[in-house]
Amino acid sequence: MAALTVVKHMGLLEPLELASYDAFSRRQAGLPDDSRLLIVGVTEEDLQQYGWPLPDDVLAQAIETLQSHNPRVLGLDLYRSALTIDSQRLSDQLQADNLIAVMNVGNNPPEGEVPPPPIVPWERVGFNDVVIDGDGTLRRGLLFVGSQDERSFYAFSLRLALRYLAADSLSVQATQRALVIGDAEIPAIPNNFGAYQTIDDRGYQILLRYRSDQSPAPELSLSQVLSNRFDPALVSDRIVVLGSAAASLKDQFYTPFNTWRSRNFSMSGVVIHAQMVSQLLDILEGDRALYQSLPNWAELVWLLAWLAIASQIAWILNRPVLLGLGTGGVMVILWGVSAAAFSQLIWLPLAEPALGIIMASGAVVLQKLLYRSTHDELTGLPSRELFVAYVGRALSRWRTKQKTPVTVAFLDIDRFKLINQSWGHTTGDRILTTLVQRLQTVLPPSAHLSRVGGDEFALLFERMPQADIDTLLYSVQAALARPFMVDRQRFSVTTSIGMALTQTGQTYAPEDLLRDAHTAMYRAKTLGNARHQLFASGMLAEAKRRLNLENDLQDALKAQAFTLYYQPIICFQTGKLSGFEALLRWRQPNGEFLPPAEFVPVAEEIGLITTIGSWVFQSACEQLKRWQQQFTGLNITLSINLSRRQLEQPDLVEKIGHVLSTVGLDGHCIRLEITESVVMVNPEETIQTMVRLKDLGIQLSIDDFGTGYSSLSLLHRFPMDSLKVDRSFVSRMDRSHEDLEIVKTVIALGHKLGFSIVAEGIEQHAQLALLQQVNCDYGQGYLFAPPLSHEQAVNLLTSCPTWC
Ligand code: C2E
Ligand code: MG
Ligand code: MG
Repeated sequence: MAALTVVKHMGLLEPLELASYDAFSRRQAGLPDDSRLLIVGVTEEDLQQYGWPLPDDVLAQAIETLQSHNPRVLGLDLYRSALTIDSQRLSDQLQADNLIAVMNVGNNPPEGEVPPPPIVPWERVGFNDVVIDGDGTLRRGLLFVGSQDERSFYAFSLRLALRYLAADSLSVQATQRALVIGDAEIPAIPNNFGAYQTIDDRGYQILLRYRSDQSPAPELSLSQVLSNRFDPALVSDRIVVLGSAAASLKDQFYTPFNTWRSRNFSMSGVVIHAQMVSQLLDILEGDRALYQSLPNWAELVWLLAWLAIASQIAWILNRPVLLGLGTGGVMVILWGVSAAAFSQLIWLPLAEPALGIIMASGAVVLQKLLYRSTHDELTGLPSRELFVAYVGRALSRWRTKQKTPVTVAFLDIDRFKLINQSWGHTTGDRILTTLVQRLQTVLPPSAHLSRVGGDEFALLFERMPQADIDTLLYSVQAALARPFMVDRQRFSVTTSIGMALTQTGQTYAPEDLLRDAHTAMYRAKTLGNARHQLFASGMLAEAKRRLNLENDLQDALKAQAFTLYYQPIICFQTGKLSGFEALLRWRQPNGEFLPPAEFVPVAEEIGLITTIGSWVFQSACEQLKRWQQQFTGLNITLSINLSRRQLEQPDLVEKIGHVLSTVGLDGHCIRLEITESVVMVNPEETIQTMVRLKDLGIQLSIDDFGTGYSSLSLLHRFPMDSLKVDRSFVSRMDRSHEDLEIVKTVIALGHKLGFSIVAEGIEQHAQLALLQQVNCDYGQGYLFAPPLSHEQAVNLLTSCPTWC
């Protein structure tokens, strides 16, 4: 806007605006010949025949001839440089009451001034009334100069029109605002009329309406008049304007009609006068022929409206081609509206809004680019950089006030990678947008939400007590956990959140808070998904350790640092060994073993678990095969744990089948353990995989039963053989009545569904006794034996030759 005003002020747009007047004028100038007028032009041939200046007698004869056909007005648009008229004949003619003569006031009187013939009284003299614009084009006419008190100057065209309309009865009043002639009011145009920036606005001017691009009335040559070769009806009762039409006489003007096609086209003064008289007659007779422009405020509204439309379009359309078409379309409409208004004699600014449209679209595009560089395209949320800037500002406010701490929360969607892998990124993206919409409904407006990674979001809370944040995060997690439909599929996700908040007396960089919240989020994940966790010192070290762990895990695979331990499972009915559970161990360089709880979740997260899992399955099968060969008649089952990632491998069944056949093992002696929470994630798919595993003869077991949230309605549909009651219930059942009841219920339920029941983590005789009482089928635990090395297991098998 400001830029436009400057441009306007400098008048840079004026040539363009004037060009629009010219273009519109060219389209409009198609009115039929004005029957109130006749033009008599002195042509090149006339000059050759009669000479120049025209001899008085020739002129007198022409006037006589014309007068003999009773014109209402005769305009003599010829300068007579001689101050005295010698010819009596011409003098007589000049005295005719209907004759109007022209005078040239000159630009800087008296230089260039050509006075009227002295015989003609002032009332019948009009000044030459053309006003030429800076670019040499004639667009305005000056009608009247002076006021009531002083001597008034009338334009030649005005004199002609007034005389034609029997002006004696018309009063001419020059007021401050307008020239009032009878009922017609011709407002004095201001110096910034229409698209003009500053014009000499003295006197009463009008913007010309060209009736025609050629001649607005019938035209005769001087010789035609002198030889009486014309239809007298062309003269009778009309205004006859007699003037020079020959180009060599230099009485020529550039008009809107000299386009690049005919640059040298010009209109003779006599034709121009006919155009002006025709326009004036229309005005004075009450027809609409006067151009108007909008008041300044309305021009501003007009401009603003186009800016608004253009920016709106640029906002909606994103593709460059569409944007180009859209902006072009707006331009075309602007042109159309302006042209329509011009045809209704309203001259609206065109170049100004056109430039405004370009500038507004450009500004919107720039703003969009800027927005995109700081916002996430998918969700429209602020980017990480912007979020860090928000945190930075919050921290500096906190530093000065130190009131409530600044809290940053880091939210991660649990197992989102799997969703992407199994359903594709498009579905993943839809899920993300759905979740973001939910988040936005739960979060208060004061909280800043940002997408800082694929499935990672950061939240900033300022001036909010910790307890409120806690409650809020619970509702965030609950809201996100509600199942939803995407692509006609039902999904439900859990989220892990980590939080970090400022401690009085400490200094923070924005990135620190984000990093701490991220670390706390990882801690929350380790403790089990779907939690939120506050950052505590020590977590950072833990996080670093984790990172090392990731690297070490990769090396461990190559260095064959993994080994399997085997924990016996006892059949309660016979009291004998029914099988082993293969448990993974990671031998550390110092010879110690790292328990799986420490590294399996990490391996799962980074995807290494599938490779490790394949190794476990292959080694366990080979081990069992060796035992079967070593101990003939050995009829034991080997339980092998299956991770979630393994279960989701599309070629899992084929791989397992392949190992079984290469090792030469019967599927019946293998039991796969799948943790309850894993089974329930994608029940339908899991059921399909399980059915195919059962086709290989493999037994299936739900591990850690009671810790997940099994849907009882689904449970009977899983083709399972056994349920493993989680250690946490077993370990407390001798002390806690509730846990005992849970164990009893699980056993009763499992038996009803046709599953056998294994209790894990039996350490006490009391637990064993209770389990036997409640009809548990199998047991595993330190009471019988801890996980054993391969050698220890062989010893056991050797020492106990009767197997269950
Ligand atoms: P799990 O499958 O529930 O295995 C039973 C866990 O309970 C084992 O821990 C075992 O050592 C422990 N345990 C057995 N009896 C007792 C007892 O009386 N008292 C106590 N306190 N603990 C007992 P471990 O070996 O540390 O394994 C932990 C978990 O790691 C396993 O739980 C299983 O989910 C996972 N895991 C172990 N090996 C593998 C593997 O090869 N692949 C996969 N994917 N996961 C494995
Ligand atoms: Mg297990
Ligand atoms: Mg277990």
